[in-house]
Amino acid sequence: MKKHNFSAGPAVLPRIAIEKSAQAILDFNGIGLSLLEISHRSKDFQAVMDETVALIKEILKVPEGYQVLFLGGGASLQFAMIPFNFLKNKAAYLETGVWAKKAIKEAKGFGTTEIVASSAETTYNYVPKGYTIPTDADYFHITTNNTIYGTEIRTDIDSPVPLIADMSSDMCSRPVDVSKYAMIYGGAQKNIGPAGATFVIISDEMLAKVNEDRYIPTMLKYQTHVEGESMFNTPPVLPIYTIMETMRWLKELGGVEVMEKMNIEKAQILYDAIDNSKMFVGTAEKDSRSLMNICFVMKDQYKDKEADFLEYTKDRNISGIKGHRSVGGFRASTYNAMSKESIQYLVDVMNSFEKENL
Ligand SMILES: *Cc1c(COP(=O)(O)O)cnc(C)c1O
Repeated sequence: MKKHNFSAGPAVLPRIAIEKSAQAILDFNGIGLSLLEISHRSKDFQAVMDETVALIKEILKVPEGYQVLFLGGGASLQFAMIPFNFLKNKAAYLETGVWAKKAIKEAKGFGTTEIVASSAETTYNYVPKGYTIPTDADYFHITTNNTIYGTEIRTDIDSPVPLIADMSSDMCSRPVDVSKYAMIYGGAQKNIGPAGATFVIISDEMLAKVNEDRYIPTMLKYQTHVEGESMFNTPPVLPIYTIMETMRWLKELGGVEVMEKMNIEKAQILYDAIDNSKMFVGTAEKDSRSLMNICFVMKDQYKDKEADFLEYTKDRNISGIKGHRSVGGFRASTYNAMSKESIQYLVDVMNSFEKENL
């Protein structure tokens, strides 16, 4: 029986990417060895790394003067590496959720950190606007998609200082103007691959701004990984392979322009259902709504039915719909690989539950 996987991350991947990865584990490129048991410096794996980097560059139209890296440690290690490498005078952050807050905590360990705006008081149910980015900051850090709260910054903002974006959960969900960012990074496991690989797109201009006044451990220096072409140490070979297959799938479908169109269409189906429901209500403000994570709860008078609904969805092969504990209710993650049919199926299940329980 088909499962409808709405997990926030690790999350749904294109079936073809999983099948090809399984095949590469059994026999990679027909060489009679597993992808897992050959050198990362072999020509077969080098080709995987090269193609993955090339596909990211092509798909996101990464301009000249940028490096694409694959590292370990997740987005969480980037929270520390960014200020470690670049915080000299002051760092500026937009506080839009728990992930942003974790990034801020690490920056504070390295120097002055200014929070330019925060939506913490309303449980991060919107993305602040109309703030001023301090022009004396070394960089301005944003989280483009707030996975837990279902809010998203869907335009490439203008920043007077280098802009750094955590795109863990909306990477490759829409076209981005990479030239507006000094750095884009994230864990792969939400929208482009499995856990274990961290993507970093960074400009040479930013790399030149590294803080030379403190010792940065070799592994935590971006320059190390630029010079090592993501092979300074053994890279996460299997996750990178799956990212490659996911990017091949994405390119075949028509790239990020097509993804965005599909993501808008898919999210609309579920948001419309929520807005037309007597029982469910969305938690994020409408103008901040995410296309990737759709958060909703039951209206106050039906609150006691939330556990029943979770059970009801589980019985109907819907997985991963429980909301994060800080928001409660439900969260349907609708990443690139989530099909429109599964979203329509969820809507049908919501409607039938409502009919039976109103
Ligand atoms: C999941 C997530 C993270 C944490 O990623 P790890 O790879 O587990 O460290 C950071 N930021 C955002 C926006 C996320 O969704």
